[in-house]
Order: sequence, then structure tokens, then C-alpha cells
Amino acid sequence: MAAMMQPQIILLKEGTDTSQGKAQLISNINACMAVVDLVRTTLGPRGMDKLIHDDKGTTISNDGATIMKLLDIVHPAAKILVDIAKSQDLEVGDGTTTVVLLAGEFLREAKPYVEEGVHPQLLIKSFRTAANLAVQKIKELAVSIEGKSFDEKKSLLEKCAATTLSSKLVGGEKEFFSKMVVEAVTILGEDDSLSMIGVKKVPGGTMRDSFLVKGVAFKKTFSYAGFEQQPKKFENPKILLLNVELELKSEKENAEVRLSDPSQYQSIVDAEWNIIYDKLDKCVKAGAKIVLSRLAIGDLATQYFADRDIFCAGRVAEEDLQRVANATGGAVQTSVNNIVPEVLGTCEIFEERQVGNERFNIFTGCPSGETATIVLRGGADQFIDEAERSLHDAIMIVRRAAKNSTVVAGGGAIDMEISRFLRQHARSIAGKSQLFINSYAKALEVIPRQLCDNAGFDATDILNRLRQKHALSSGEGALFGVDINNGGVIDTFTNFVWEPAVVKINAITAATEAACLILSVDETIRNPKSESAQGEGAANAMARRGGFRGRGRGMRRR
Ligand code: ADP
Ligand code: MG
Repeated sequence: MAAMMQPQIILLKEGTDTSQGKAQLISNINACMAVVDLVRTTLGPRGMDKLIHDDKGTTISNDGATIMKLLDIVHPAAKILVDIAKSQDLEVGDGTTTVVLLAGEFLREAKPYVEEGVHPQLLIKSFRTAANLAVQKIKELAVSIEGKSFDEKKSLLEKCAATTLSSKLVGGEKEFFSKMVVEAVTILGEDDSLSMIGVKKVPGGTMRDSFLVKGVAFKKTFSYAGFEQQPKKFENPKILLLNVELELKSEKENAEVRLSDPSQYQSIVDAEWNIIYDKLDKCVKAGAKIVLSRLAIGDLATQYFADRDIFCAGRVAEEDLQRVANATGGAVQTSVNNIVPEVLGTCEIFEERQVGNERFNIFTGCPSGETATIVLRGGADQFIDEAERSLHDAIMIVRRAAKNSTVVAGGGAIDMEISRFLRQHARSIAGKSQLFINSYAKALEVIPRQLCDNAGFDATDILNRLRQKHALSSGEGALFGVDINNGGVIDTFTNFVWEPAVVKINAITAATEAACLILSVDETIRNPKSESAQGEGAANAMARRGGFRGRGRGMRRR
């Protein structure tokens, strides 16, 4: 009776759904593992690709970050995995599948403990310790390529690029492309902002028809009649870059004009013509041989320039114009008044050339030099798109490796070595955390195992052989990884399967943090009214990595 009298305490809005405790944690782990299973098969040179079909079209990709992004995952905990893939892509550019796989495997190892009732905080603490140890160990094992000659360094960077590309659709031509990528990054020199490497896609031809322009290239823009009379090749031209419309504008439509006498109409038309002729004249007087504008260049201007042997292109894409400006030393002008010689750029050779079915404007021999353009050729659109993404990965890797100059052995070698090291370390620890660190070490083996699985090798057998190699007390087996070509074990370092150390360091740190974040959530509160506002919270916390030390409450469940 007394119980019935008690007033009901209303804490949350009606319709709010809460789930808590172990069950919630297990369900989150399961969701993450389901996502990991989706990308699992794409790892490594023998990994498969995914074809993702959505309303925007069809994408074929092997890139973890791209796949995760396109999957449009709604589960809040699993979304965290999407975010670490993205952040890995932004930070280092490669290792996106690796990071997702590792996070999933950490959770898989943690699951039985959680089920047994181990407090997640104990797991988290041990995992963090293990991650720190692992990162230290990678730094120890990393081999520096600093101090080598330029040519040596270049060939080393090519090896790193080739390792990245070997898992991609363009893997068959990895030597060809890795040379190209390294060349492009070398051209950039010190100031290696990514936007200075342009990648242009021209369907048709074969991959081998792709080429590198040491300068800027872009597709010929739309042009008016008169264009065909313009010269298509210049040596040392002066280049004028504009953000000005060179079109006969109906000025009378922009303003209200009142006329009392019909004969005055002619004077207005004349004025309009004078304005445009005045602008064109100023361009010509400035001495420019090439006029590029971000805005339209009309038919009148096109013919005017053609008559004076000047080349022009209107509606040039912003980034292309900027790259021309950087490369040629010109400055984009917003007015044609007062064009001083300093704002004109120049290059050794400008030409318009046919590439496949497209015509390209190409600037080479640019004074400041620090731009490169890769023109990609190949069959279908999806194929070229994936090739572009793969090159992006390779470019990022080469930039990273050139900056940090330390590499580790790939093909699972580094993962096996850290795993061995952690197991060994665990033996010196008393108590339960020994078990947890052991599990963490076991999770790292997922990389070589998955490489084997994806190649159709007997993973158990190869892993045993790897463990044996790495256990050698002389330490000579430390560089052994999966031999992807013959299905055995091989010293991957001497065989040039190299990865920049930073890829592994970032992957391990990010994956551990994500796993810990998911382990620290024991309650999901779903409030139907503030769906979108809450959902972003957890995801953002991940993006600001390190900022989620507190309990990740407030996540919603669907
Ligand atoms: P991610 O998106 O994580 O970069 P990838 O599909 O590119 O995934 O696969 C990367 C893995 O493949 C790395 O562990 C790398 O060491 C391994 N790998 C790349 N090339 C080779 C090779 N030739 N032999 C063995 N392993 C390789
Ligand atoms: Mg890769």
C-alpha cells in the first residue's frame, strides 16, 4: 500500500530511453565488431575492394576511411570508428584500415573480461599503459633515413610509397606511380602544402599514360569563338591573372537609366563598349601574353585577344588559378587598373595540349617551381577516382616520411615485434593487468593474421612461424613479416616493405583511445527530441582526441 502512495520521480523527458551497465557495453562492443568485419577484408596487398552504391553513384575503394565514410553508420558507438579512420586519414593519410581493425580487436579482447565482470576502468588503464609501451618500442625500432644522400633518400621514399600503393587497385603499377609521387613531392620542396600538388583525371587510355607535369596543368576552360585563332604555345610569356569579368555587360540592366531623348540611347550603348574596350586595352598594355580569369571572358574579349596574339581562358577554377599564381610568381588582380609588371607571372613554356579527349593548358618551367600536377589516365571513372585516392595516400606518406624520416618494417613485422615485447613485459607485472596487457599484445597480431587471411594463406601456421622468429633471443627475427607473394615469412625490411613509423604510432594510439572511449561508456540515453544535438557530442569528443578522459555520457542509442 505504502509503495503505491509514493510519488513518481520524473527525471527525464517522456520518451527518453536509457540502457545501462554491462549489457549496454557489450552491445556497443558488438556493434563495433560488426563494423570492423566490414572493412577487415580490405587490408593489405591482397585485400579485396568494396563497391559502395549510394544515391551519389558507385564507388570502388580499398581505403578504410573512404569506405567508413560512405557506409553512413548510425550507431553512436560504431561511429567512433568512422571518426578514427577519418582522423588517421587527416593526420597521416594511410593506415586507415589498420586503425579500425586494431580498435575492433582491442574491443574483442576486452569483451570476455567485461562479460566476467571486470571493471572497464581496469582494462582501460592497462590498455593505455600497453599503448604507451608500444609507442616507445616503435620509436626504438624505427630506422632513420636521415643523413642519406638525396638519391638514396629518394629511392627510400619510393619504397614507402610502393608499400602504400601495393594494397590498392593501382598496385600493379606501383613502381611507376611511386616514382611519380616522390618526384611530385620533391618538386614541392620545403613548403609542401598539399594543395600545391594537383591531380587531374582524364578518363581513357591506360594507367601508364598518366604523367607528371612539373608545373601547373588544368583542363581547358569553356571558350568562345575566336579562341581557335589564339596562339597555343608561348615561350617565356607574361601571365596576367585576374578576378575580373571581361564580358560585354549590359550596364543599363544594373542601374536605372532615364532618357528623355531616344537619340541618347546610342551614347549609353557606346559607353558600355568603351568600358569593356578600356579594360581589354589595359590588359594588352600590361604586356600580358596569357590572360587567365576566375570569372568569365566573353566572346568579344576572346576575339580582341586573338587579334593581338594573346591567349585567354575564363572561368579558371579557384585552386588552379592560385596554383598558377604560386608557380609563376604572379598575383591575382581584382581590377585591371594599374597593372604593374610585378604582378605578372611567367613560365618557360606554356602550351595547350591534347590529353586523351581533353585539351589541357600546361605551364612548365615555372620560376618558383614548387607545384606539380599529376594527370591520371585510366579506364572507368570509378577506377580513376580510386587511383586518385590511392595517390593521395601515397603523397601523404611520402610527405610524412620525408619530414619524420623514420620507417619500420611492414607486413605485420612491427606488429609482431611489439606484441612479443608486450608479452615479455607482461610477465614482469603482477596481478590482473598482466592478463590485460597480454590480451592487448594478442590483439596486435590481427594485422599479420588478416594479411594472411586476405591472401588465402594458412594464418595459424604463418603466425606460429612469425612468433617463433620474433622469439629468437638473438633478435634476428625482429623484422620478419608476412611474405605476401609466396605465403611464408620473410624479412620484410630487407625486402623493402616499409611504412613510416608515424603511421603505426598514430594507428596504435588512435585505436587504443577509441577502444578505451567505447569501454568507458556504460549508459546510453536517447532523447528523441534532441537526437542530432546529442549524437555529435561523442563523435566530436573523438575528433578532439585526448579530450575524452571523462566518461563519455550523453551518447544516444538507436
Ligand atoms: P591501410 O588502410 O591500413 O593502409 P592497406 O590495405 O593499405 O591498409 O594495408 C596496409 C598493410 O599492408 C600494412 O600492414 C602493410 O605493412 C601491408 N603491406 C603492404 N605491402 C605489403 C607487402 N608487399 N608485403 C606484405 N605486407 C604488405
Ligand atoms: Mg594503405
